[in-house]
Formats: sequence, structure tokens, C-alpha cells
Amino acid sequence: MAKKIVAGNWKMNKNLQEGMELAQGLNEALAADKPNCEVIICTPFIHLAKVSEAVNHENIKVGAENCADKASGAYTGEVSAEMVKSTGCEYVILGHSERREYYNETPEILKEKVDLALANGLKILFCIGESLAQREANEQEAVCKAELEGSVFHLSAEQFANIVIAYEPIWAIGTGKTATAEQAEEIHAYIRSCVAEKYGAEVAANTSILYGGSCKASNAPELFAKPDIDGGLIGGASLKVADFKGIIDAWK
Ligand code: PEP
Repeated sequence: MAKKIVAGNWKMNKNLQEGMELAQGLNEALAADKPNCEVIICTPFIHLAKVSEAVNHENIKVGAENCADKASGAYTGEVSAEMVKSTGCEYVILGHSERREYYNETPEILKEKVDLALANGLKILFCIGESLAQREANEQEAVCKAELEGSVFHLSAEQFANIVIAYEPIWAIGTGKTATAEQAEEIHAYIRSCVAEKYGAEVAANTSILYGGSCKASNAPELFAKPDIDGGLIGGASLKVADFKGIIDAWK
């Protein structure tokens, strides 16, 4: 059975003090009321080491939002997968549509990042999803399959066990427009079928596939009730303890 997960993506929000306050607040809330799912917070690089030290890893795993496509060396401003791992964090988000769109991350670049992240013992939240124009042209399945083929389907089944897929329709990210639970389930089932075709039914059944895109406490229960939705990747609603905890509690 696929692990149930609620992951937060802070993006470029919260200075160090604010981030620590948020992490500590969540740590306290989950110590008092243990989650029924794996909880991950993905923070900017500068927070990783301190947040990782401050939280109880039984209740909260920590992840980065990106890593470099090079192992080390003269790449001013970059942060390597090895550096990310050395902060004590376990996950990294790769393939987020904001990175693909604003920082020109191609499938080939993402493939390099995926390989380096795995080589350094990180698990990956790998994002895929179509734009509004692609959805209107009914291309969502082709887009998702191509993004998987472009950056993660070269992995062995053993390596692929470290991949969590996040389906994030770009038209739903930060827009307040959530995919309906039926729309999300339809494409999640398709994504699982692609994994099954590539790695077999058992690997597919064990792969967590998260929904992302304006997910909040009010719509999470309906989304998470669907058989192929194993949780959520949460942007805006991960920035306040009560909002994020409300989504985590959808698994109760
Ligand atoms: C995201 O960017 O990963 C995301 C899901 O954002 P939001 O929840 O704000 O739509």
C-alpha cells in the first residue's frame, strides 16, 4: 500500500525566524496530536539545518525545494544534493512547475538532479502536471507521461521506490481553482497505470501519488478519499500551522 503523505512547500516565503516559528508550532501541534500520515515540510535552503534539528523526525520529515544539477564545484549560488542531505533532511522537491517555467528546468536537467538526489540518499517529491491550455486540449495524460519518461522512468525499480509523484495541474497552483476530486482521481489512476506499465503492479500500488493545487482543509477530505490520491503537496496552506494541520487531519 502506498504511504499517505501531506507535504508542505513553503516556496520563497518566511525569513529564518518566521520559518523557525512555523516549524516549532507545527512540531508542538503534532506532538500533541500525532498525525495519521507522513508529514513533510519543504523549506528554503537557509532553513533546512535549523528546522531539521528542531523538529521531531518521527512526526515531521524535512525536505528541500530544489538542488543543483551538478555534484560540486564552481557553480556560484548553487546548493548540491550532498549539501542538502548534510543538513539532516530526507526529501527534495524536483520538477515543480515554477522551476520548469521560471528557471527553464528541462527534463534533461531534472534527470541530472534526480540522479544526484538519489545518489546522495534523498527521496524525491517529483512534480508533474499540465497547463490550462494543455488541459483544454485534453493533453494532460500525454504531458504527465512525457514528464515521467523524461526524468524518472530511466530509474531501476529499486531506485524508483524513492520517488513520490506529485500531480500538480498548473492551472490549480496558487489560483484557488482546485481540480475536482473526480478530475484528480482520473489522472492519478492514469499516472498509476503508467507506473504499472513501466515497473509492474506491485511498484505502482506502493507508489505515493500526491495531489497539489489549491488544496486546503476544506477540500482535502474529498480529494484524499479517492483511491489513487495518497495525500497532498501543499503550497499556500502550508504557511500557517492551523491551515496545514487541518489538511493533515483529513487523514483522521
Ligand atoms: C504548489 O506549488 O506545490 C502548490 C500546490 O501550491 P498551492 O497549494 O498554493 O496551490
